[in-house]
Amino acid sequence: MAPTDLTRCVLTPRVATEGFEPIGIGVHRASTILFEDAAAYAERGERGEKGYSYGLYGTPTTRTLEEKLTQLEQAAGTFLAPSGQAANALAAVAFLNKGDHILLADTVYPPMRDFALSDLARMGITLDFFDPTDLGDLEARIRSETRLVWCESPGSTTMELMDIPAAAALTHEARALLAVDNTWATPLNLKPLALGADIVTEALTKYVSGHSDVLMGSISVRDPDLAQPLKKMFGRFGIGASPDDASLVLRGFETLGMRLRHCGAVAQRFAERLSGHRAIGRVLFPGLPTMAGHEIFKRDFLGSSGVFSLTFPECVAPHVWRALDHLSLFAIGASWGGTRSLAAPMSIGASRSATRWQEPDVILRISIGLEDEGELWADLERMLTALRRLSAAGDAAE
Ligand SMILES: *Cc1c(COP(=O)(O)O)cnc(C)c1O
Repeated sequence: MAPTDLTRCVLTPRVATEGFEPIGIGVHRASTILFEDAAAYAERGERGEKGYSYGLYGTPTTRTLEEKLTQLEQAAGTFLAPSGQAANALAAVAFLNKGDHILLADTVYPPMRDFALSDLARMGITLDFFDPTDLGDLEARIRSETRLVWCESPGSTTMELMDIPAAAALTHEARALLAVDNTWATPLNLKPLALGADIVTEALTKYVSGHSDVLMGSISVRDPDLAQPLKKMFGRFGIGASPDDASLVLRGFETLGMRLRHCGAVAQRFAERLSGHRAIGRVLFPGLPTMAGHEIFKRDFLGSSGVFSLTFPECVAPHVWRALDHLSLFAIGASWGGTRSLAAPMSIGASRSATRWQEPDVILRISIGLEDEGELWADLERMLTALRRLSAAGDAAE
């Protein structure tokens, strides 16, 4: 008996997909996955890592993105989280138990610092911060309970470089794990797992997706033994990534190499031209030979991205916020790594405890986008001219 129209509305006919080979993977949405028969359903738990049993545990779209990241990170496996910060938090929680100790670089992404101070502390995990530019400080703070060392190189906003291979050696000597938030460099410009780290996280929200319209994060691990606990914990927490979002990230991924190369080259030229400018204190960019840690950058990194920061002399700093009103092409905004160039005045003094920030606490973080380089430079120059004028007027008024 043929089904009625009401039933036909519900049953989706299957058309042939043979011979249909698009470049990208489609968006495969699912909570429910169907089984041929009751026996197959009963045995769904035995389908293994590559099998499909429920949408939360992976779809062809999310698995394709995970596989791409696993290859680029030289990892044993990758897990997608709903944001970069979710990836950071979950990566830490997965490997820490009550009574364990975590060490965090003083320069980590501020929400990670907050997460450790509030949530990890609440769970009975003790923590300390260390100076990422002084591995003697790291070594001195490692304890027998230290289970995880968390770092970022270069550090958020202030761009301090850390010697990852040396930190990995110290960490492993203490039988702890080293995790690196690799968002600035992306898996194209730094391979933390190949340098000895055990865990790498990425805010795919930034360069990898590249268009400022999606949030996603990833955790990749070097050792298959670390993948199992993560996979199980993700299931218990009910964490998954949307296939629509994964598809956007996959699309952005295709142009990542070209975008990064361009943004890195423009940032290098701008950082060089801005060095020594009278309205500016220091230019914080790993690609500058004057930058502390430049040797580490040259040794470990395959290139740079387009994010750098500016500090200001005492007499200039109070005028930075007003000078930003003179920018017209650079937009004011937080989440960098997209097509649009951004400027964001940052204050970091309150997020340092193992080190002390010695300069005025207004740091201008710049993210180079894909606009015309000459027009971007002219925009920056207009802002700096206004900054000098405001500072001179400020001096005169005193
Ligand atoms: C932006 C950022 C994150 C968080 O990414 P979201 O997807 O916005 O949560 C994590 N780490 C670093 C270094 C970042 O810059």
